[in-house]
Amino acid sequence: MQIGVDLGGSHVGVGIVSENGKIVVKKEQDLIIKDKNEQEIKQYIEDVIIYNISDVLRTVGSPMCLIEKIGIASPGKVRDNVIKEIFNLNIKEFALAKDLEEHYGVPVTARNDAKCAGIAEKQYGALKDYSDAVFLCLGTGIGGATFYNGNLVEPKRSEGSEYGHMIINKNGNLCKCGNKGCFETYCSMKAFKTSVIESFNLNENVESKELLQFVLDNLENEKMNEIIDNYIDNLVLGISNIVNIIEPEVICLGGGFVYFKEVLYSKLLNKIDEAQYTFNVPKLVLGKLNNDAGMIGAVCL
Ligand SMILES: [Zn+2]
Repeated sequence: MQIGVDLGGSHVGVGIVSENGKIVVKKEQDLIIKDKNEQEIKQYIEDVIIYNISDVLRTVGSPMCLIEKIGIASPGKVRDNVIKEIFNLNIKEFALAKDLEEHYGVPVTARNDAKCAGIAEKQYGALKDYSDAVFLCLGTGIGGATFYNGNLVEPKRSEGSEYGHMIINKNGNLCKCGNKGCFETYCSMKAFKTSVIESFNLNENVESKELLQFVLDNLENEKMNEIIDNYIDNLVLGISNIVNIIEPEVICLGGGFVYFKEVLYSKLLNKIDEAQYTFNVPKLVLGKLNNDAGMIGAVCL
């Protein structure tokens, strides 16, 4: 039995993933990290994961000894199975895989969440039929995964494919990484949502569902059109850079972007047709596995 763990910036998902990449059962829990220091946050996350693993096992009536391996999809960078720099959770370094390995006595691997989601799309989803592909996860930030000849590109020193930190504006928005003008400060879903929320003075805690409806209701509004056009222009700029360097057959957009596809995807396709490339224009597809991609990909390979 394989357990996939999806550690997000504000929640944890735990699921049993079958050998053919299907989620048999999953549980999710929000993380409340307010007023906790780094050590307390890490302990709390481990407790939440262990509790939810017990919960999914109880649901299917399986004992713990049937667990064969655990995979963790995590934000931040992962090096030597140690997670580094999860900005949203105020964690600098987290040996979560090692701690769970000691607890369960089975192999536990951690990998960056965008890489996991990309691997899942490559193996079971939208990228299944392509060998040279780029996966872009547009969520709180922008993560990426690159595939050449069907294999994930994995540099020796780190995980690579940090498309979110490609600079598209020399003196642009300040990024969490310390640089200015990074792609993700313009084109993450968080950046898009923040533009809408701030321009229309909406409640900053508005749910995605309500926000999508608000955007749909205001598609004729000039200010809304400007926000969408700016977002798409920057997205096309970033995608053009990626195409010129990688020249993939296909780029798959995943993460929260898929949820907002009604207002963003067709505009993107129209704009990309007008863009000038040195190389062939790739196909642009949407992720098929949605929020489950990270959990599924965490146990692949
Ligand atoms: Zn950056």
